Amino acid sequence: MLAEGGLGLLTVKDAPRAFHVMAKPTGATCNLDCEYCFFLSKEMLYPGSRFRMAEHLQEQYIAQLLEAHARAPEVVVAWQGGEPTLMGLDFFRRSIELERRYARPGQQVLNTLQTNGTLLTDEWGVFLKEHGFLVGISIDGPRDIHDTYRVDKGQKGTFDRVMRGLAVLRRHGVDYNVLTTIHAANGHRGREVYRFLRDECGATFLQFIPIVERATMATLPIANAGWRPLYLQEGDRLTHRSVGPAQYGRFLIDVFEEWVRRDIGSVYVQMFDTTLANWAGEPGAICVHSETCGLQVALEHNGDLYSCDHFVEPRYRLGNIRELPLLDMVASPQQRKFGQDKLDTLTEYCRDCDVRFACHGGCPKDRFVTSPYGEPGHNYLCPSYQAFFQHVARPMRLMTELLRSNQAPRKLMDVYAAEDAKRGRNDPCTCGVGRKWKRCHGGDVGREAIA
Ligand code: SF4
Ligand code: SF4
Repeated sequence: MLAEGGLGLLTVKDAPRAFHVMAKPTGATCNLDCEYCFFLSKEMLYPGSRFRMAEHLQEQYIAQLLEAHARAPEVVVAWQGGEPTLMGLDFFRRSIELERRYARPGQQVLNTLQTNGTLLTDEWGVFLKEHGFLVGISIDGPRDIHDTYRVDKGQKGTFDRVMRGLAVLRRHGVDYNVLTTIHAANGHRGREVYRFLRDECGATFLQFIPIVERATMATLPIANAGWRPLYLQEGDRLTHRSVGPAQYGRFLIDVFEEWVRRDIGSVYVQMFDTTLANWAGEPGAICVHSETCGLQVALEHNGDLYSCDHFVEPRYRLGNIRELPLLDMVASPQQRKFGQDKLDTLTEYCRDCDVRFACHGGCPKDRFVTSPYGEPGHNYLCPSYQAFFQHVARPMRLMTELLRSNQAPRKLMDVYAAEDAKRGRNDPCTCGVGRKWKRCHGGDVGREAIA
């Protein structure tokens, strides 16, 4: 595939050993109409398309992906959308067959599927379990929150259908994680959302994604009214659905204060895991908080490859896998520059920041405000990141020390329990919102102590 010296000065040994492709077999097509979904508008990039990945392309993709990971111990085949289950089960059965055909000796293949969950049936449950799929299911919280924006084409809430899909996964013992977007309707209800996901959804792996819906002066009124102009990463206006610049941080702190007292080691919150990894100097799982990025590309239904799922725009198109090998595009100068720019375009304010080692300036897509030093291109979510990373500095340091001394990070819960026992009921809550301990995160701690 990639010839020695075939990419300018790049050689096989310079090419990444592993990378992540989000493949969209139905393109942007979805059976739902979630109001904040930037991806639905991407249908406009392919006028007249049937939005179904053809069989020959599916084969080309699997073959190339597995070959490109020949030097890695594991390869992830990740399907998402749009809504990938619209392809029907046969597409995924075929994918498993192709993986068997093209896998190298000893190569581990992990399949993942990101879905809105509404089309899952027992037949899906049996298949997903049999083939060890890890399924991501999108749930935004309890019914009133979930149904605010996650609606179908008739603008009806989808909560019941999603919970039915989740029940399929649980019934069949499929591994799943929950993806929750944080926005104007749930940004102030962190602990409640977290408890719902943990207690009602049985989730033990959680991903939180902040909704930052950019618009220009021209597109804002249309976007706010629910129309979908082609979504591009441009403009410095925000739709009314977007999470506030400090709100995401408050949400994370609200969740953290619950998690750190009860759930270390039993519930994995991707943001907390990544933060701990950065504190310990290990690679984290979230590209947003890595120094550079560029190893997470998006594949459209027709074989077009883009720099990132958030940059499916003509100027970030790397090529098409029918014409260029996947690995060549991932390793191309254009894509390496895309990933390196994450570091190279940091504002001076970020470079001076105490928590830069944990934050790394956030995702470039969110860098459209002016920094406190007056520089353009600063991250809109900076107030959230500063507040969160500063809030968790001490517990992250303590967990890092536990890890370094071969102890389980969950021992931190004992530290919190001892400190909470000494806290007065009318003391300010540790989450910092200004409520009394007994009326905030200490409410249950106090009740449990009394019981
Ligand atoms: S642009 Fe943002 S979402 Fe895309 S790979 Fe880079 S950090 Fe990740
Ligand atoms: S917290 Fe703000 S200033 Fe610090 S690295 Fe992140 S975005 Fe930059």
